[in-house]
Amino acid sequence: MHPETEGNPGVLYLVATPIGNLEDMTIRAITILKTVTTIAAEDTRHTQKLLRHFQIPTPQISYHQHNQASRIPVILEKLHQGEAIALVSDAGMPTISDPGYALVQACIAAAIPVVPIPGACAAICALSPSGLPTDRFIFEGFLPPKGQARLQRLSVLQGEERTIILYESPHRLCQTLSDLKMTLGSERSIVIARELTKIHEQFWRGSMEAAIHHYQSTAPRGEFTLVIAGKPLPKPQWSDKDLLFNLQQLLDQGLSHSEASRQLACQTHLPRRALYQMALTLKK
Ligand code: SAM
Repeated sequence: MHPETEGNPGVLYLVATPIGNLEDMTIRAITILKTVTTIAAEDTRHTQKLLRHFQIPTPQISYHQHNQASRIPVILEKLHQGEAIALVSDAGMPTISDPGYALVQACIAAAIPVVPIPGACAAICALSPSGLPTDRFIFEGFLPPKGQARLQRLSVLQGEERTIILYESPHRLCQTLSDLKMTLGSERSIVIARELTKIHEQFWRGSMEAAIHHYQSTAPRGEFTLVIAGKPLPKPQWSDKDLLFNLQQLLDQGLSHSEASRQLACQTHLPRRALYQMALTLKK
């Protein structure tokens, strides 16, 4: 029985691991990895380095894309016997463009608790400092590499108004940027987050066109997460009634006709002279 879930039959922890900087390992992640009976890892040799660094002696079993069908019953059996098991991927949050989804589903179906142990995730790590809107965003993971599936996904993105987050490998970056330019336009803003949390962390910001030029002259190296502005919203249409209402409010606040029309022109990007003529029809 694990201390965090005493009374439960078994528990699966989804443990985030660093995406570059080992200091991003959380204290809770270390505690969990030390106290579970088994760590299910995407690549046991890779995870062994992390475990050695944090002096975690827990045994591992492999759990990856190619053995998940045979591994899930083994892991479920252990969980049913009351074991606590941690799932880790090579980096970041398990299940996010990484294996784990099928195991989580199987645990939920078997009424086994699944507990997240949060930490680094490249998507969120790239989005938060991107400077692009963070109030609404979508995560698309890796685009399909080619064919109809890729075209279809790109065409769906064409109408997307929310900020878009993509993962991409260095060898496909230039192709993806050029496909994005064809679909979203050359002026669309993009932030390219490279080597997050590592020594050569970099945020490149600019238009899609400029990004293509940049990476044509600088060979892409390292790990990349792309954050792309959503489709610009159409400018709001102002009816005469709205304009008169707003002008009257400004006049009621004590502004002159000239100042009221200047302020509304700034807000609406409509010609100040036309707004001034409109303002003159109103009383202060
Ligand atoms: N589960 C991971 C997470 O939570 O971020 C993502 C795993 S996915 C297989 C790996 C992809 O994430 C990379 O190809 C890259 O696009 C992105 N990524 C991972 N680490 C990164 C880093 N340090 N800097 C930029 N992007 C990174």
